Order: sequence, then C-alpha cells, then structure tokens
Amino acid sequence: MNRKFKDFELSDEILKSLHLLGYEKPTKVQNRVLNDILDHKDIIVKSQTGSGKTAAFAIPVCELVDWEENKPQALVITPTRELAMQVRDEVFNIGRFKRVKTCAVFGKAPFEVQARELKQKMHIVVGTPGRLIDHLDQGTFDPSMIKYLIIDEADELMNMGFIEQLEEILEHLPTDRVTLLFSATIPEDIKHLCDSYMKDPDLIEIESESRALDRIEQQVCFARNKEKTALVNDILVVENPDTCMIFCNTRIAVDELYDDFKDMGYPCGRIHGGMNQRDRMREMDSFKKGKFRYLIATGVAARGIDVDDVSLVVNYDFPEDEESYVHRVGRTGRKDRMGKAVSFVTDKDKEALHAVEQFVELSLAVMEAPEESVVEAAEPAFMEKLNKRPKMKENKAAKLNDGILKIHINAGKKQKMRAADIVGTLCSIEGMTKDDIGIITIMDISTYVEVLNGKGDKVLKTLQKKTLKGRIRRVSRADEELFPGERNARRRRN
Ligand code: AMP
Repeated sequence: MNRKFKDFELSDEILKSLHLLGYEKPTKVQNRVLNDILDHKDIIVKSQTGSGKTAAFAIPVCELVDWEENKPQALVITPTRELAMQVRDEVFNIGRFKRVKTCAVFGKAPFEVQARELKQKMHIVVGTPGRLIDHLDQGTFDPSMIKYLIIDEADELMNMGFIEQLEEILEHLPTDRVTLLFSATIPEDIKHLCDSYMKDPDLIEIESESRALDRIEQQVCFARNKEKTALVNDILVVENPDTCMIFCNTRIAVDELYDDFKDMGYPCGRIHGGMNQRDRMREMDSFKKGKFRYLIATGVAARGIDVDDVSLVVNYDFPEDEESYVHRVGRTGRKDRMGKAVSFVTDKDKEALHAVEQFVELSLAVMEAPEESVVEAAEPAFMEKLNKRPKMKENKAAKLNDGILKIHINAGKKQKMRAADIVGTLCSIEGMTKDDIGIITIMDISTYVEVLNGKGDKVLKTLQKKTLKGRIRRVSRADEELFPGERNARRRRN
C-alpha cells in the first residue's frame, strides 16, 4: 500500500520533522511496523540497515513518549558506539519539534558527562550494553519508567558476545513494556531471547538485503598480501570512484594503508576500534560530508554506519565471516542505486570465499588485476579528480536546523535556573511564544536553549539587556559541539 506519513496517527510536530528531513513517504519497513508500534505491540523485525529501520522505531516512539515525564521512557540498545550515536541523532532529528530529549551512552567516553545528562529530563536513552550496565549499577540511569525497549541489530549484539549483558539489562527493566527487536538474521539464540522476554511477538520480515546485493556488481581479485597495496591503488585509478570504503581486518592494516595513502597524497581518512571516540566520529563525519574520498576502516568500526552514496567498496582483506561480507558490501548500492565491490582474495581466504558465495547464493566474478596500460590510460582522469575537492554533501538535518539558534546562558542549576524561568522570560519578549522555544538543557553552571522559527537573533539581542532570574546574564551563541561536557571538563583541568 502506498501510504504517506500523514496517513498514520502522527502529530504535526513529528510530521514537520519528517518533512524537513526530506522523508517524503515511509520506507517498506516503516510502512509495515509504524501502526504496530503505535498500537503497543511487541514485534520482531527482520530487516537490514539502510532500510530506514531506525526511523521505523524512532518515529512511533518519539510520538508515544509523554513529554511531561522526566525519567527515561524508551531505551535503545545497540551493539556499537557509532550506531548508538547514529540512532540518537535520528531520534533527535525526528523528535526535534516535539522537543524529545535523547542521549547516547557508550564506553570510551566520560562516564560523568553521561551521568549528568541522564540526570536531566530525558525521554529516550540509547546505549551500548557495557556502559548501560555501568549506569544501572551506579544508579545514574533510572529505568523505572521505561515503557519501550528497542534491541537494535540484535544479531550483532549476539555476535559480539553481549547476550549476558543484554539479559542483565532486561532484568532491570519494568516488565510492563513494549519490546521491539530488530535484526538482519534471526538465529536460535535470538529466538530464545524473544521467547523469554517478549510478549507474543509477531515476526515481520522485510525483503532481505541480499536482494540489494543483486544491485551490486561484486568481483573478487586474487592477490598475494604484498601485492595488495599496489593493487588497490591501480583499482582506484581505473575505477576512479567518487567515494570508496576500503575494509581491512586489523587496526594495523588500516594504519599502514592509511600511511601509504597519505604518502601518495590521497584524500583519505580511517576508522578503527583503537582510535578514540572523538577521532572516529570526526573521521566519519568528514567522510559523510565529502571532505575526503577514501575511508579505510575495520569492519566492526564501520558496522551499521549510514553513509549514502559510496561508489565502491574494496575488501582489502577478505572478511572473516559471511555476514561481515554482506554488511561491508552493503555500504554501496544503497537506496536502489547500483554499486560495485571488489574483494581481494589470498590463498588462505579461498575457504572463506566459498562460504560467502554459498551465503549470498552467487558465484562472484573474478577480476584480473588491471593491466599497466589500462592504469596509465586512466591516470589523467584520476589525477584530475584527485586534485578537485570532493563536492560537499548537504547534511540531511540542515533544513531542520534552519531557523533554529542554540544560545548559551552562563547560569545553570547552581544559580537555580529552571526551564520555567527561561520560558517565562523568553515569552515576555515581543513576538515570542512557547512554540518558538525548542530544547532547553540546564547544566550545572550553564544552560542551552534552542530558539526556533528564525527568532534566535532577536532573543539573543534582547537578552543582552534583559534580566533572567533577576540578573543580566552572559548570553551568546552556543558552539555546536559533540560532547558539551567534555569541553567543560577540559577547561577545569587547564
Ligand atoms: P537505516 O536503515 O535506519 O540505517 O536508514 C537508512 C537511511 O534512510 C538513513 O539515512 C535515514 O535517514 C534514511 N531514511 C529513513 N527513513 C526514510 C524515509 N522515509 N525516506 C527517506 N529516507 C529515509
């Protein structure tokens, strides 16, 4: 059925966000699950990343949360930090005009900063298992009002050995809740989990990504380890992709190839589990924005990452299991586009290749290494593109941000600042109403307020001379930052 978002019972605030995000109509998975989730049904959804599955739960859950309730009402468990951030961003964007508050908690990021966030009004918490347990154990995350639990990429959670942590988290949650499980595959251990923790769930299967795999031209190229660097170089010259993800199996291999590429002057970035979170995020963001063309990564770090438009995927190291193959290759050929993937196969990878071919039910075409003359002929076009800065891609949330100004006030909880004080003062400014105020975040000694509908500059100007809770405060534009608390922590240390 060709339904539109407005055919579902969604509020104007949510519909406005979807419109500005450019989500014109529901994807297949959204069409199938929105009503079930809005009706509070437990469901198991078999679908892949890239199908719009995050929004499939984020839309109804943003719709369902009760804004007045201060404690978290929905919990999303994800296998990786990157996915946690991505889910948080999607929830934030979709819930923007309902002023849904969301945060992501994961390891290798300051615990205290997350604890402070969790202490504020918070509707939807997204997290990875280990850090969620830490917060539950320390009492910094109160799950008593959780009504919606979403287990995202359940198969990956299992692959990464998170089953015990998952069960531990489940034991902390109220049993009177809706549980949604999303997974690309439903192996036995997941069925078992569903039987134990879900209420009579329906299984909804969305056409698997292996069909999307049919849109991807997949080739293998036999090579010895020591030939790989030259080979990937030749392939890049000949294929001359706008964007390319190159997967290695180890951090060391990523670093080595990255250094080689840098030496050659290639615009590239890298991601692996040994890097700190900030650097990983920065690299991912730069790649998404089109600041460089080639991203070299380990599979796990790039798992579930939503990047549009990767023209070519190279498996520099052949993936160690079939599912990784599907996930890596699935970075190209997204959203009905055609894609291309080349996988290097050494002697010791032949068995793994066979397993992949059985899994994807395809015999992968063998590609010969490009001949020198072909590489030479392609070189001028390659160099021309190399010297051109990639086209910057528009951030899909850009329209959503239009007309929103985030301001910083140098007073917070310590100065007894409350949301009501801010709303009161802002609404006393001519032309301002409650509807022009977005998310308010009150920290210890500062407060962030989003002013909507293009009224930010006026508010900023007025507040330079207007008192807020009895005093003139220092009010400025807030920098967009990834970890607001980190900057404060650094300042204190300095
Ligand atoms: P996911 O499967 O959640 O990784 O989503 C894949 C991509 O589809 C993300 O970039 C989403 O922002 C985008 N997306 C989700 N829902 C829609 C929609 N209804 N229309 C267009 N794009 C969408």
